[in-house]
Amino acid sequence: MHNIDIDLVEMTLDVTKYVINRITKTNPELGMPKKEEELKRLVGETITSEGIGGEKAFELWKDVLVKSTVPVDHPRNLAFVPASPTRSAIMFDLVTAASSIHGAFWMEGAGGIFAENEAMRWLVSLTGMPEPAFGVFTSGGTAANLSAMVTARECWRDLHEENKSKRGLIIASVGAHSSIKAMAKVIDAEILLVPSEERLTGEQLQETIQSLSETDRKRLFAVVATGGTTNAGIIDDLKGIADVCDKEGEDIWFHVDAAYGGGALAADSVRHLFDGIERADSITIDPHKWLFSPYDCGAVIYREPDLAKNAHAQEGSYLDIFKDPGAQGFNPADYQIQLTRRVRGLPLWFSLAMHGTDRYKQAIERGLELAQIAGELIKNNSDLELVRDPSLSCVLFRRKGWTPDDYRDWTYKNQREGFALVTPTKWKQGDTFETVARFCFINPDTTEEDISAILASMN
Ligand SMILES: *Cc1c(COP(=O)(O)O)cnc(C)c1O
Repeated sequence: MHNIDIDLVEMTLDVTKYVINRITKTNPELGMPKKEEELKRLVGETITSEGIGGEKAFELWKDVLVKSTVPVDHPRNLAFVPASPTRSAIMFDLVTAASSIHGAFWMEGAGGIFAENEAMRWLVSLTGMPEPAFGVFTSGGTAANLSAMVTARECWRDLHEENKSKRGLIIASVGAHSSIKAMAKVIDAEILLVPSEERLTGEQLQETIQSLSETDRKRLFAVVATGGTTNAGIIDDLKGIADVCDKEGEDIWFHVDAAYGGGALAADSVRHLFDGIERADSITIDPHKWLFSPYDCGAVIYREPDLAKNAHAQEGSYLDIFKDPGAQGFNPADYQIQLTRRVRGLPLWFSLAMHGTDRYKQAIERGLELAQIAGELIKNNSDLELVRDPSLSCVLFRRKGWTPDDYRDWTYKNQREGFALVTPTKWKQGDTFETVARFCFINPDTTEEDISAILASMN
């Protein structure tokens, strides 16, 4: 299986050709999901005792399977949070895989981890957090949020013996990402959601804390603010929230989830909206969202990395050698939930090193600008109406007179035609949820014409 033979050389050329084709295409085909039975009918048996051969398997991939996927980097894919990895980052993702590096410990991964840390230092500098703040790349925002929440919970339990037997409580807002609620379940913490989907303010947080019973106040160990809500790009009042967390005392951990919005820290035009983020205890940023990394690459940054190490470093006789002075260096496994890990910050490092940080700023500013352009086009169209002003690169708008079914049919029609992927969302107004249309811009290659054409499809 591992012998270098002529087939392998040919396979390598085929794969390289495919990759070059794919990453130089600015308009990849927008695939459609097919039913599992239909895919099975089209590909037949793929796992057999003899193997079907690389050529055949690759053919099935190219002719059938990839066509049943939606490229996140399509310029008219404005659904959820799309992505737009740089070509250099994608190429270096191949290099990362080919280099077979175990990214958990410095002893094995030093050169790779060094490069990751170069990129991390830039990320940390965007937050303005003081020394010794530092972080680590994770599989995504969910794993980053979980790693931060575990660290917060462990710190709180270490504060008072009685906390060890208590179920912790977290405050966030309705606009917080689903992963916050899901990860609270994982750590068996209770979560209290401030009911507004608009910007969470320090005053609202203060009122919410004041409304807690004394017992509940003693269970409160973390406040999660959002630095760019996934649905609407709203940045909570980070400064006001930091003030309240400071005032409340050392038992409150202040986490900022900027998985989507964190890229905008690099954009001078909106950086001030994040003021206060430098006072967080931990921050989540997803380079695979707005920092043009391929999947999967999230990041968690800690004000005091040693606290994360106390919470996460794994013990085991087979791991002792890594603690030997001869193997000393930064061990990514100590700061998040995963042991064996891909050196997944490497593609970001290479792309940053190659292009320089200014190009990143420009590409992010373009996403912000596209949201403003879309906002103007919507204002000038009498069939359409903004639900709220564009925030970061998110635009929520309604097509006057449409029902939820109309939005759904429109989404499926555009996707079926291979034209665009734009999905509706819900926006909370008082006690009711309204179905509305939503754009999220990431890809700097999206054009004004793309936006106009999508809006015209709502006629
Ligand atoms: C996307 C997102 C997450 C989850 O990140 P994954 O990388 O999908 O795990 C968490 N928080 C926010 C604000 C997000 O936008």
